[in-house]
Amino acid sequence: MISGERAQPDYPELAERIKQWGRELGFQQVGITDTELGNHERYLQRWLAAGHHGEMDYMARHGTRRTRPAELIPGTLRVISVRMDYLPPEVETTKVLGQPRRAYVSRYALGRDYHKLIRKRLASLAKRIEDAGGAYGYRTFVDSAPVMERALAQKAGLGWFGKNSMLLNPQAGSLFFLGELYTDLPLPVDAPFESEHCGSCAACQTACPTGAIVDDKVIDARRCISYLTIELHGSIPEEYREAMGNRVYGCDDCQLVCPYTRFTRASAEEDFAPRHDLDRAELLALFAWSEGEFLAKTQGSAIRRIGYERWLRNLAVGLGNAPWSRAVEAALQARLAYPSDLVREHVRWALDRQRRKQPIALSTD
Ligand code: SF4
Ligand code: SF4
Repeated sequence: MISGERAQPDYPELAERIKQWGRELGFQQVGITDTELGNHERYLQRWLAAGHHGEMDYMARHGTRRTRPAELIPGTLRVISVRMDYLPPEVETTKVLGQPRRAYVSRYALGRDYHKLIRKRLASLAKRIEDAGGAYGYRTFVDSAPVMERALAQKAGLGWFGKNSMLLNPQAGSLFFLGELYTDLPLPVDAPFESEHCGSCAACQTACPTGAIVDDKVIDARRCISYLTIELHGSIPEEYREAMGNRVYGCDDCQLVCPYTRFTRASAEEDFAPRHDLDRAELLALFAWSEGEFLAKTQGSAIRRIGYERWLRNLAVGLGNAPWSRAVEAALQARLAYPSDLVREHVRWALDRQRRKQPIALSTD
């Protein structure tokens, strides 16, 4: 809620203290910006008009409330943008992508759902501001509302938009979460991150398995493995299934190849530590989970939102792409009667792929 009257604090001093408190609460960086997102609004409109959002209708649903913070939360004058690194220590990335019997789960989703943790920390930050300066209006967001989080972070000085459309920080890469605190406090703003440091690099565009980076900073979500494995509800178009390899929940390739990713610092947050061996599990082991196991093991995890059916769909594609083995074929066979057209169709595709590889595998056994 955005409030009316308050005593006038020293805003420049308060802004400095907010950044200090943010770091104490575990955010690696805090920046402050105003609510003017004109350029980003035009970019979003072009992206939507091109249909790049696929089934993500929610991207269009909120009109200008997404790009005009004060239309979403009346009275908003400033946005405090925060970032938090998430890569757990000693977690393999590209190595797992090269092991086709293992499942690759996007590294942000290995542990507990980040929304809760970041929302809690933002609430603590909001409380400290209130304790210092009295009641004020605010609302916190973590990737859950119509909020242009990367655009706001760029404006708040946290990084630039890479060609892969991720927010890149020269000292930290891009493996971090963003969160926002909308407020009616007239805090001094930080300088936006105007310079771009991709230069002639195009590693992300070259590495994208499905050619989803269709232009500088433009992702066609309909081709993106993150979208195909998480957002898409129906059948995964066959033309992308082979390129998915063993990526069963999200995709990090365009970040992993980025030269700035070498500056990633491991996160000390226990919540982000891998659960149930999700950083290294075999595809077969995950495909063997019953629905009850899926629900139990993904409790409090971002993975749960795709549900068991899409989990099996994605794993079936991974198994279709895995090297032939009797165990894989048997596991797929056992799912042929699963009561879901979606799952059965992907299982049939995977079995077909396995059988085509069988003679080659047998002849080299
Ligand atoms: S997440 Fe994967 S599929 Fe999507 S743009 Fe990046 S590399 Fe391509
Ligand atoms: S891989 Fe290269 S082009 Fe892509 S975002 Fe990173 S620096 Fe920019």
